[in-house]
Amino acid sequence: MRKQTENFQAETKELLNLMIHSIYTNKEIFLRELISNASDAIDKLKFKSLTDTELLKDSKDFKIEIKVDKDKNQLIIEDTGIGMTFNEVNENIGTIAKSGSKAFIEKFKEAKENEQLDIIGQFGVGFYSAFMVSSDITLYTKSPYSDVTIKWSSKGDGTYEIEEIENLEDLKRGTRIVLTINEESKEFLEDYKIRTVVRKHSNSIKYPIYFGEEKLNDETPLWKKDKKDITEEQYNEFYKNTFYDHEDPLLHFHLKVQGSLEYTALIYIPKRTPMDFYTRDYKRGLQLYTKNVFIMENAESLIPEYFSFMKGIVDTDNLSLNISREILQQDNELIKISKNIEKKIETELKKLIKDDREKYITLWETFGRTIKFGVQDMFGINKEKLQDLLIFKSSFEDKYTTLKEYVERMKEEQKEIYYVTGENEEFLKVLPKVKVFKDKGFEVLYLTDRIDEFTLKTLMKYNEKIFKSINDSDLSNLEDEKEKETRENLEKENKTLLEKIKNLLGEKIEEVRLNNNLGSGAVGLASKGEISLEMEKTLSEIPGNENIKAQKILEFNPTHPLFEKIKNISDEDELKDLLYVLYNQSLLIEGLQIENPVEFAEKLNKIISK
Ligand code: ADP
Ligand code: MG
Repeated sequence: MRKQTENFQAETKELLNLMIHSIYTNKEIFLRELISNASDAIDKLKFKSLTDTELLKDSKDFKIEIKVDKDKNQLIIEDTGIGMTFNEVNENIGTIAKSGSKAFIEKFKEAKENEQLDIIGQFGVGFYSAFMVSSDITLYTKSPYSDVTIKWSSKGDGTYEIEEIENLEDLKRGTRIVLTINEESKEFLEDYKIRTVVRKHSNSIKYPIYFGEEKLNDETPLWKKDKKDITEEQYNEFYKNTFYDHEDPLLHFHLKVQGSLEYTALIYIPKRTPMDFYTRDYKRGLQLYTKNVFIMENAESLIPEYFSFMKGIVDTDNLSLNISREILQQDNELIKISKNIEKKIETELKKLIKDDREKYITLWETFGRTIKFGVQDMFGINKEKLQDLLIFKSSFEDKYTTLKEYVERMKEEQKEIYYVTGENEEFLKVLPKVKVFKDKGFEVLYLTDRIDEFTLKTLMKYNEKIFKSINDSDLSNLEDEKEKETRENLEKENKTLLEKIKNLLGEKIEEVRLNNNLGSGAVGLASKGEISLEMEKTLSEIPGNENIKAQKILEFNPTHPLFEKIKNISDEDELKDLLYVLYNQSLLIEGLQIENPVEFAEKLNKIISK
């Protein structure tokens, strides 16, 4: 029989140190972690036994037991799950399996106390949390794949012992964890404390948890219960337990679908972006249960990518249990369910937009990008489904609006949906051009996220109304007949001047024209063609695209004193400098990079000091 003393990995040691010495106010979660491991182990056994009934030959019991030995200061947690072989103990308990353990330690050190909990869960270091309350941990485990029992023990001091031992009479299969509770944590040997902690954190564990004769939890899975019998707190506790979040979720949908398609789904939206959401480690998908058996953790096909931030559980009785997880993902029934779930979520979200805008805004500000990417993805194949989930701030009351609400407010003569793009709303609000649109009674959407304009470009139109940047070249909608006439006359009058300006500015611009709708601004920039100014901005950040430029139109406000001044400058060099400054100014207003800041400053100074 093997017997070894091993060193913990360096990372594990550091982690243990952190655990042991961190001042948790919330040490009790160690029990939740051990119970959740026990439950996972029973899940695994049940799943494997579907195809290998031999596994259950020693016992058909699925349960978790908690015992206390006050004389020895011991708290014992035992399960009848899958257990571990010698190698498995070494792999799972001796090392931190996940490659992110270094990252974990960094995060853990940085985190505030109340966030540390969250981190423990997300990085899957649950087992080690038991060292917060223990001076010694001894684990006995018997796997149905091993002939002997494994004993593992450690004082959390950098080494552990692992040995093969004779099988124990009272541990036919599963794992027994014996914690010798340390001086400061004696309360965890008290009956009342154990009851409270288990009921608080582990009530919805789906296998019975016995404390002596007493069953502590209510093992009907929460999602199987009647909605009216579930309190908000229970929904929240369940979420935190199942999806390792320390915060209550933003909201949940509990779907019970009956008829030709039958399933139950409990779907949650977290309040905050999960730490690994933007990394490759993030696993989307819902948990899948069939006939009360846990099938898999992240069934990706159950939820589309643009809802990847949602967590949840789907339970259906209509799946065949004897097929592999891979094939299951393509199961027809499952495909139907996922389509149905998607529709239901869309409906629920639309309801939320109407009934609880505040909440939807929180969701949007956290996860809206994912939905916007969904619109763009695969050439907009899902855009129709998603367009009513988009919200943008707008010049109407400076609040969020849906596209539908925007269109409902449109004036009869307005043909297009206007938008403006820029860094932030504060900046957009005060743009002279925006003011002009507002004054004319045209609402403008404020697009402040880089991907917003691409999203609208993918949509192309909403309710037959085309999206149009207020910088776009066609101004005819804004001008009434009289204004148009005035402008055209003025342009005729100043034809030579405008041509001269165009020549002096050369390649930089495509066109020079007058615009009566620049408000208090002297100049404005517009674009024509496929590439808008905002797209130039975005593209310029993608390597290889730096040279893609919008075709720019420089606009002059004919009523601004500067225009008069320009008319009267006879010295060509002086005019050239002024135009240079004005052109660059218009770039700045649009949030574009000016080409040569030093030259700009020099020319500006020259003009000022005249
Ligand atoms: P996680 O549960 O996130 O994987 P833990 O630190 O809680 O992280 O557990 C580490 C691993 O140890 C588990 O993934 C599992 O393989 C194994 N393990 C822990 N507890 C048990 C148990 N009671 N029975 C069987 N395996 C267990
Ligand atoms: Mg765990």
